[in-house]
Amino acid sequence: MKVLMYGTHPYEKPYAEKWAQQTQTELKMIDEPLNDETVDLAKGFDAITVLQTASMGSTAVYEKLASFGIKQISCRMVGVDMVDLDAAKANHLIVTNVASYSPRAIAEMGVAQAMYLLRRIGIFDARMNQNHDFSWNETLISNEIYNCTVGLIGAGHIGTATAQIYKALGARVLVNDIAYDPALEPFAEYVDRETIFKEADIISLHTPLLPSTRGMIGEKELKKMKKTAYLINMARGALIDTTALIKALKDGEIAGAGLDTLADETTFFGQTNVAEKDVPADYKELAAMPNVVITPHVAFFTQTAARNMVQIASNDAITIANGGRSRNEIRY
Ligand code: NAD
Repeated sequence: MKVLMYGTHPYEKPYAEKWAQQTQTELKMIDEPLNDETVDLAKGFDAITVLQTASMGSTAVYEKLASFGIKQISCRMVGVDMVDLDAAKANHLIVTNVASYSPRAIAEMGVAQAMYLLRRIGIFDARMNQNHDFSWNETLISNEIYNCTVGLIGAGHIGTATAQIYKALGARVLVNDIAYDPALEPFAEYVDRETIFKEADIISLHTPLLPSTRGMIGEKELKKMKKTAYLINMARGALIDTTALIKALKDGEIAGAGLDTLADETTFFGQTNVAEKDVPADYKELAAMPNVVITPHVAFFTQTAARNMVQIASNDAITIANGGRSRNEIRY
């Protein structure tokens, strides 16, 4: 079995090499993404995997893959927006993704940001580094996590992993989800969203971005939250109305925010040397606040997640090339 790995990132290489050795697969890793210019490199291979956000090119790419005898496109990522699913279907190419590679990775980043805010690390850092102020006073006193009520909106893979960590730390955990999962009962109490706004000291968002969830935290919701509460968003930036969040932080409606995603992040997250003029004003305003912590959509970026993305996609690639089926197939 010969597999071609398009768009290989340096951090993936050790895991890909190990997988190839364990499965006795002939694996070739290349840096280039799959597109019209690179599709011919797949000739002679039985299967391919990809990791890219850029489009995979014209329908000729899919026709060529099929003509080379390839039966699948296995994506080493969640999103498949770069795949022309109609062209894949027309050419009998099964598309797979890795929907859940390490919920724990994202959960841990959310908890880390909450702890940073709760212990006011950013505020102490700013006082010390900007003003050489090494004092403290009653306004900076912290709460301990086991005295906190945590409210999670969205309790799927990542919300559940988050609930487990907070529960293990001794917090009271409330969840709100449109679906009920009895497996969560040992860790959390299902409540309505109003209860979360009213009672939670930490509110953590873990829903997908859908028409029903876009802007679900706006001016009204922020006003319902405790003035001492922290808002954590590890899901998608557009779940929050950013303008309303900035206003709420300035007015002291909430105590702080931890964000791994921003509504306009695609214009600058993941890029180096972004020109001053291209850094969005809302980011600058948020980043200047010591009670806000922002990371550039890297909550997923752990060794476990990288290994799982490579292994799961590569296993799917050879399973389908051998005539089998995968539970990770995109149904369309
Ligand atoms: P999931 O599908 O397992 O869980 C999502 C949950 O949200 C489900 O239980 C669903 O019922 C619930 N939900 C949907 N609409 C809702 C609503 N209106 N109110 C309450 N609950 C609702 O997804 P997941 O794997 O846990 O991922 C959650 C989100 O995290 C993803 O959609 C993605 O946006 C984000 N994510 C972020 C990163 C990162 O690096 N920051 C990485 C992966 C995923």
